[in-house]
Amino acid sequence: MTHALDFTHDPAARSWLASANTGHTDFPLQNLPLTVFRPAGTQGSSRQFRGGVGIGDQVLDLAALAASGLLQGAAQKAAAAAAGTTLNGLCAQGSVAWVALRHALFRLLGDEAGASQQATLRPMLSPQAQAEHALPTRIGNYTDFYTSIHHARNTGRILRGDTGADPVMPNFRSMPIAYHGRASSVGVSGQAVRRPNGQRLPPGAAAPVFGPSERLDYELELGVLIGPGNALGEPIALAQAAPQVFGLVLLNDWSARDIQAWEMAPLGPFNAKNFATTVSPWVVTWAALAPYRQAWAPDAAAPPLLPYLDDAGVRTHGALDIQLEAWLQPAAGAAQRLSHTTFAHQSWSVLQMIAQHTVGGCNLQPGDLLGSGTISGPGPDEAGTMIEITHGGRRPLTLADGSTRAFLADGDTLVLRGWCERPGAARIGFGECRGTVVPAPA
Ligand code: MN
Repeated sequence: MTHALDFTHDPAARSWLASANTGHTDFPLQNLPLTVFRPAGTQGSSRQFRGGVGIGDQVLDLAALAASGLLQGAAQKAAAAAAGTTLNGLCAQGSVAWVALRHALFRLLGDEAGASQQATLRPMLSPQAQAEHALPTRIGNYTDFYTSIHHARNTGRILRGDTGADPVMPNFRSMPIAYHGRASSVGVSGQAVRRPNGQRLPPGAAAPVFGPSERLDYELELGVLIGPGNALGEPIALAQAAPQVFGLVLLNDWSARDIQAWEMAPLGPFNAKNFATTVSPWVVTWAALAPYRQAWAPDAAAPPLLPYLDDAGVRTHGALDIQLEAWLQPAAGAAQRLSHTTFAHQSWSVLQMIAQHTVGGCNLQPGDLLGSGTISGPGPDEAGTMIEITHGGRRPLTLADGSTRAFLADGDTLVLRGWCERPGAARIGFGECRGTVVPAPA
């Protein structure tokens, strides 16, 4: 149902707001991403964070819209749920409410809205450039998957050597694997990320040393924000997974590779990952992504899929063609693109991640966050981490200013961008996910 195309996906539709019609904005009328924000430079109660919708270069205040009388029924209930400081209430309402709000917003912000409606809406708009954002949801739980076979292959070769054996672990092709991450350190774009101190075992050393990570890395990922969720003990079947996807954000899973290499056996990453995760402030909804869904197929070398991970829906439209880029902005000097790939290469669908997460009865809750795992494509310029790009640090990158990077330096800003475009559909984008590395505590 929420994968169906409707009038809100018409690429010819235009807004009465000119900045939404440029053809290159991330936020045309067909996108309508949700956020939590407050306008800058205001006083008193208007300083509270509240829900908003991106349109062109503006953000529409959902608290003001909910109080305006312009909405009715399910759309009004949805806007009221988004009027507070998090979108968890809206996540909980489910896809019928989300689509009702989308349809209402499309009609109000489209160029067929009446002059009096436009006059009522204009004071609810404020410039995105001056908005301050909070996390879109209060994240109760965060799980990070590992679903790119290209990333698995690249890192397997780097960590275990090119032995001639398949560098992909045997479980990878049978299920989307994951670890439970840390929700408390998830921050919103603009975050200052403090380089972690920790234990690492230097090459050839007999005992670990303590100090700042020397191999700080990023991971280019997408985050999935969960809708209503499920009761404990009641798995979400694959066919019922789509209405559980509230929307997607960009996600950077900051990773300290030296800490990770020493601590990870046998229980997985811990301090290497739990110091920070950054997400973009704009939630691109599942409905907005409908035109960019496409066929999914298992890896050619995969064994037959178990039935709980396979159905006609995931085969016909389980994959998403989302273009993704990572950029490195040194403290001084020009930003440099590190990679460009598409989420369409990913080995597992977000629908299968939800089915896998809940198959044993684990309960997902409204606003929970699932990371896709690093998104690396097949080509040499499609790797989603520094450890892949520099072959474990052995082939440092040379930046435009002549400096080199095996891993991230203090003062570096890592920027993720994402967008969707395809013939017959509007171009929509995710905005940016940005974080700056600051020195470790003394
Ligand atoms: Mn990750």
